[in-house]
Amino acid sequence: MDLEDTLLMMPGPVPVAPRVLRAMSRPMINHRGKEFSAMFDDCTTMLKEIFQTENDLFTISGSGTASMEAALGCTIDKDDKVVTIENGKFGERFKDIAARYGQVVPVECEWGTSVDLDVVEEKLSEGAKAVTMVHNETSAGIRNPAPEVGKIAKKYDALFIMDGVTSIGGDDVKVDDWGVDIAVVGSQKCIAAPPGLSMLSVSERAFEAMNKENLPYYLDLKAYQKSAAKSQTPYTPAVPLFFGLQEALKIVMEEGMDARIKRQATGAAAVRAAMDAMGIEMFPQLNATSAYSSTVSAMKAPEGVDSNDIKKGMMDKGIIIAGGQNRLSGKIFRIGSMGNVAPKDLMMTIQHLELVFK
Ligand code: PLP
Repeated sequence: MDLEDTLLMMPGPVPVAPRVLRAMSRPMINHRGKEFSAMFDDCTTMLKEIFQTENDLFTISGSGTASMEAALGCTIDKDDKVVTIENGKFGERFKDIAARYGQVVPVECEWGTSVDLDVVEEKLSEGAKAVTMVHNETSAGIRNPAPEVGKIAKKYDALFIMDGVTSIGGDDVKVDDWGVDIAVVGSQKCIAAPPGLSMLSVSERAFEAMNKENLPYYLDLKAYQKSAAKSQTPYTPAVPLFFGLQEALKIVMEEGMDARIKRQATGAAAVRAAMDAMGIEMFPQLNATSAYSSTVSAMKAPEGVDSNDIKKGMMDKGIIIAGGQNRLSGKIFRIGSMGNVAPKDLMMTIQHLELVFK
């Protein structure tokens, strides 16, 4: 397969702009020098704007899961209760990570169905140190009610730890307004940088809650905070990925977040309209507080069709879409509209999909 002719239409990693690739081929620099610190500060400033936060913000050399683990590993001790909301694979991942550090109080919804906020409130009212939720559940193509969960968390004085891995940079995410104590994003999704970095914002309240005896070592957020005061990372960062991140963030800023949010949302709406016209059902089951994701669309495979065959049919045409993960394998297929995906890419994907179905 000629990779130059392959179009990535899956929910991350997404295509990376040529200028981002060029930025990554720059000669190496001293990660304790002024040049790195200037790049570090530039990235942090742009990221805070995208997160809509004044909280501390750190970049970890490690994928999104590293930051999910940093969030829980630093705040949760073995006797602490964590309410984990799950309606897809990444909600389940938060639950699995939480189980390594503390006591899980699961709120398990069938994957692809909407979160029941009354159940969340009931569990939090019984007392918990934190609640975790995935804002945009990539595995199911559903957007979960982050502002509402933020309010409930505040009411019961619990930390709100939010996975924004496929919403931040593509959706209107208001970390401070929603009261998100720790918000996580991955570089390879809506921001359209290469995979390998994750970024997270951390509130003062979250820092105050880090009263554990043993914080993780590599993922010790207090160490990141201390180093950030010197515009550095505690350990050697993935410098070429920082070069790429900085360039990718400049592209985000040039487009502007409002335009970017609109473009990604209209992309997802175009996918839904095309599916409707083809008689293909969307996978998520919405209620008044959930929505279709505007960065990844998840569809049910038609009766009697294995979604892996749809994926394969598209791959033969040079277009990479995603199937279902874990228990959803063979049942659903997913198309990303995140990152710098252009209308022509979506149109081509829709047209080829129609050909695969015929
Ligand atoms: N959370 C969500 C919502 C995701 O979509 C993903 C990856 O697809 C992750 C977490 C895990 O991120 P990573 O694979 O970068 O560790």
